[in-house]
Amino acid sequence: MDTSDKALVAYFSMEIGLDPAMPTYAGGLGVLAGDTIRSAADLEIPMVAVTLLHRRGYFYQRLDEQGWQHEEPVAWPINDFCKPVSQRVTVDIEDRRVHVAAWQFLMRGESGGELPVYLLDTDLPENQPWDRTLTDRLYGGDDSYRLCQEVVLGFGGHRLLRELGYSAIRRFHMNEGHAALLVLALLEEQLASRPQEQGVPADLIDAVREQCVFTTHTPVPAGHDQFPHDLAHRVLGDRRCSWLKSCDPDHGLNMTQLALRGSRFVNGVAMKHGEVSHSLFPGYPIHSITNGVHAVTWAALPFQALYDRYLRDWRHDQLSLRYAISIPAEEIWTAHMEAKRMLVDYVNRQTNVGFDRDVLTIGFARRAAAYKRATLIFHDVARLAKIAERSGAIQIVFGGKAHPCDQEGKNLIHRIHELRDNLRGRVAIAYLTNHDMTLAKLLCAGVDVWLNTPLPPMEASGTSGMKAAVNGVPSLSVLDGWWIEGHVEDVTGWSIGDRIESCLDPSGGMDACHAAALYDKLEQKVVPCFYKDRERFTEIMRHAIALNGGFFNTQRMMAQYLHNAYRLVGRYIRGG
Ligand SMILES: *Cc1c(COP(=O)(O)O)cnc(C)c1O
Repeated sequence: MDTSDKALVAYFSMEIGLDPAMPTYAGGLGVLAGDTIRSAADLEIPMVAVTLLHRRGYFYQRLDEQGWQHEEPVAWPINDFCKPVSQRVTVDIEDRRVHVAAWQFLMRGESGGELPVYLLDTDLPENQPWDRTLTDRLYGGDDSYRLCQEVVLGFGGHRLLRELGYSAIRRFHMNEGHAALLVLALLEEQLASRPQEQGVPADLIDAVREQCVFTTHTPVPAGHDQFPHDLAHRVLGDRRCSWLKSCDPDHGLNMTQLALRGSRFVNGVAMKHGEVSHSLFPGYPIHSITNGVHAVTWAALPFQALYDRYLRDWRHDQLSLRYAISIPAEEIWTAHMEAKRMLVDYVNRQTNVGFDRDVLTIGFARRAAAYKRATLIFHDVARLAKIAERSGAIQIVFGGKAHPCDQEGKNLIHRIHELRDNLRGRVAIAYLTNHDMTLAKLLCAGVDVWLNTPLPPMEASGTSGMKAAVNGVPSLSVLDGWWIEGHVEDVTGWSIGDRIESCLDPSGGMDACHAAALYDKLEQKVVPCFYKDRERFTEIMRHAIALNGGFFNTQRMMAQYLHNAYRLVGRYIRGG
């Protein structure tokens, strides 16, 4: 394999959205990982990536009449996408030796470059039955299942790369704490060179740190992957746990702490998130590299055709979306109406709610997690109905899966179904099932306004609003995550609350305060602008593409990783 001695960066992620038809991702984190790989392939960055195979996927979502979610395993044709590699490795889990095989997926870039991704697989006859299931389900099972999966990813992934002959890797990039056992795997490798030493010499830890880059995605302590000390001891064994102690004397097995300790460069995924992370982990300098989306992947066909006509290099150079500022406004509107027609037809076929192409359509689709507050727009149903009656008709389309163990998330989906029935005849509401990359693209491009109502500071970045921007769709969003950077009022969209601090200490509760701000914006700005000032509305669409599409893409993001995190730019160009 001639690429193996060239890769300088190895990217590790528990989930990667490689292809919309491969169920190897759950939400924004995996989609970001996929977009990262797509842009790295475009830029021909010498990179290799590692993840798990997820034979049974995340899950297929079915919703019953009342909107209760039922999960089904996904059957997917692995051979259609990946080919098996002959090399095998083993990892030690509890007191067993687990065999790990791998499949290779090749990501093709715009200019023909190929980036190999290895998907680890423990479903081998030589493994015990439970071990055979370890690479089946993304975020399935209990703590013990999860920790064993992380052993497969961190130790198994590292060994596989060595077995495949990747000997030139200079940087190991951990996408979120799930991959943090990579730090221990690298330490084990260093220790093998000095078997006679007692404990872990500090210079070996430094040698590991020099190689590692860590991106954290979670702005709250509870969101970080953590395992009780006795479970860690049982799964990892005494020897590896003793290194853990020398790495990290104060905590059990906190994957974020381990990755922080073991990395030379750590970053959050938006400016604000970098600051929040620094206050959570005061001992560490934390940088910010704001997320992006792979513009070519997320632009709907009518917009791809438009950009091909006006921005000839945009597929090769996504930063040239900046020049969308000179695309005639009527053509942006025409492309939008085409994207909207595709969505409205799909909604009507799937749900029979009778969406109308001329009605202002608001979209909200992302993981159904409580902090995203999918039902905030229904905080005062009477006020919402009044706005639709007096200012102009509104229809709202939702999508999103709740994690199988997240009862709160499932309640939210059910609640939206109840509200849909309550509001029938006043505001048309649709809930689309099985939200995935394909549906996300249809939605982000086909709605008129993308709604985002997270509870600050919980949204580390958010990327769905960036996908909307690439399709000229403005955001109406709480000032959190990327929107703090992407928001210019009446230019790229609208904020909910006028300042970042809005509603942080409200007397009537944060939800009531944000909901009131949301209704005010809808009533005073969004609805009248859409119906009465189409010229202004289209101008905002154009700025969403030029200002936000032109910046919040993964080509810009990867340039920042290369320059700030990997620090390989000079070496890469010199080929040294
Ligand atoms: C982009 C994407 C997300 C991320 O949405 P956020 O609003 O950033 O949370 C989640 N799920 C899917 C399927 C996506 O494509």
